[in-house]
Amino acid sequence: MFGLVKGLGLTLKNMVKPRVTYKYPHEPLEMPNRFRGIQYFIPELCIVCNQCVRICPTDCITLTGKKSDDPNVKGKVIDTYEINFEICILCDLCTEVCPTEAVVMTNHYELATYSRDDLYKDMEWLSQNNTLVRKENTLHPLPKKTGAKKA
Ligand code: SF4
Ligand code: SF4
Repeated sequence: MFGLVKGLGLTLKNMVKPRVTYKYPHEPLEMPNRFRGIQYFIPELCIVCNQCVRICPTDCITLTGKKSDDPNVKGKVIDTYEINFEICILCDLCTEVCPTEAVVMTNHYELATYSRDDLYKDMEWLSQNNTLVRKENTLHPLPKKTGAKKA
């Protein structure tokens, strides 16, 4: 009998405590700003330097460049850009290395799908993933050159 009263007391005590669970997926989870989520790609900023491709540890980025139609633009412009989210580990290296922040992280994390083909996201899809963009995208900014004296 004592055990029953003790158990009920514990239940009543916890009933009035603030809720620690979410009604996911009806109530979206708010992620911290440093969260590494699905990338947003901005084609206009890409200089086709290939650094994101080279640093990617899982080889999940493929891109192609083309000559610009504008004769005043030197170098290539981006033609296709794809990320394979079957193998992307959202490690953040591509966004850290990008010199123009053409690829940046967002707080989106939902990629569940019934087809593996849907996990290949092309340039159009990535450039439309433009909400909840992480405010701070350079996690380890390079130190500014200060003209340090030689020893
Ligand atoms: S987050 Fe990491 S694994 Fe994913 S595309 Fe960027 S570098 Fe590759
Ligand atoms: S590192 Fe940035 S600028 Fe260079 S190819 Fe990748 S997305 Fe484009």
